[in-house]
This record gives sequence, structure tokens and C-alpha cells, in this order.
Amino acid sequence: MKFIDIKFLLSVHKLTQLPEATLPEIAFAGRSNVGKSSLINTLVGRKSMVKVSGRPGKTQGLNFFQISEEAYLVDLPGYGFAKVSRGMQDNWQTLISSYLESRTSLCCVVVIMDLRHEAKVQDTQLISWLKQHSINYLPVYTKADKLSGNLRQKNAAILDAGHTIHSSQRILFSAKTGMGKEELERALASFAKI
Ligand code: GDP
Repeated sequence: MKFIDIKFLLSVHKLTQLPEATLPEIAFAGRSNVGKSSLINTLVGRKSMVKVSGRPGKTQGLNFFQISEEAYLVDLPGYGFAKVSRGMQDNWQTLISSYLESRTSLCCVVVIMDLRHEAKVQDTQLISWLKQHSINYLPVYTKADKLSGNLRQKNAAILDAGHTIHSSQRILFSAKTGMGKEELERALASFAKI
């Protein structure tokens, strides 16, 4: 499955604005600046379908993209940006968790992490929350081009251990080189059964 023929559908700020749950849905989550927009742009083969962040932590909704008549991709707001007020973070969390918990057509949450960083508490929390709620998730370690081969494997193993992820479960990715793109396409097509 190639993630082409994509169009922006809408930005959701309240659950009542959600489109009808008629297509399989894949959501993308990650800390601000982790490389989420770049990953989605790489996946859909467009340079700037999703705006690469100039202003991390900017308030945004759940951005829905439609892939032909086959699936929705949902770009969730980035989390963990210190300059966003606590109240605003809570609002986001409520919207996102209610969406994730209630969306019947959601087939996978791609959890994007920076391969260079140690396990971050927000990612650990999100992953255990997804596990608790029996929501499928796919860990992706991005910016892999920034590390050499040996260090890549070493850091990946540290993140695996930190999040209790089996190495066969996750994907090493680079928006710069396209590393992991085909693997990601295959995994998502399999979750979405498309
Ligand atoms: P977002 O805030 O999670 O959407 O992150 P962005 O996609 O806006 O990326 C944040 C910064 O990391 C930008 O400067 C990107 O160019 C850079 N970046 C993202 N992915 C990669 C990658 O795979 N490799 C490299 N070298 N840089 C990346």
C-alpha cells in the first residue's frame, strides 16, 4: 500500500467535530519536535503536507488527512512542550485520550520517538496507557540518520528496554534518508487491513 493521493480533511478541536468513523484510522503521536510532521510527509511522499514545525508546541487540533477512499491519517498535537501552560496541556490530553479511547475505527497509534534520546516519561506513559486500553501501537525511532550504525543499535536497545518494546515490534526511521519507510508502509497497511 502506498500512502499517496492524500488530502487534508479537517482539524478537530472537539469530539463532536470528528468525521464519521467510516475508514480505518491511523494516528501519529510524539513529543513536540520529535520529527512527526517530517515522518508523515515522508510517508505520503509530499514535502510539506504537514507543516514542519517552526513553532513547537503551538496549539493545534487533531489534523485529519484522507488517503484516497482507504484510510484516515490523524496527526495528533505534539506533547511535552514546556512553554505550553499546564491548563492547555490538560485540555489536549483530555481531547486526545477521549478520542483514542472512543474511536472505534482507530487501528493503530504510531508512537514516534527520537532515537538519540533516552526513554522519556511522556512516551512511557502514553505507551502504558495504550497497552492498558488495548489500543494497537507501533513504536518508531526516528532521526536514525543522525547516528552511525553501531550507535543506532545501541540506542534502539536502550529505548526498547526503557519502554519494554521487543526489537521486532519497532521501526528505525529517517525522514532524511527514507530509511524504514517501506517497513512502515507495510506495518500500517497490515494494521489498517488495506
Ligand atoms: P514535529 O514537531 O514532531 O512535527 O517535528 P518536525 O517534523 O517539525 O521536525 C523537527 C526538526 O527535526 C526539523 O528541523 C526537521 O527537519 C528535523 N527532522 C525531522 N526528522 C528528521 C530525520 O529523520 N532526520 C534528520 N536529520 N532531521 C529530522
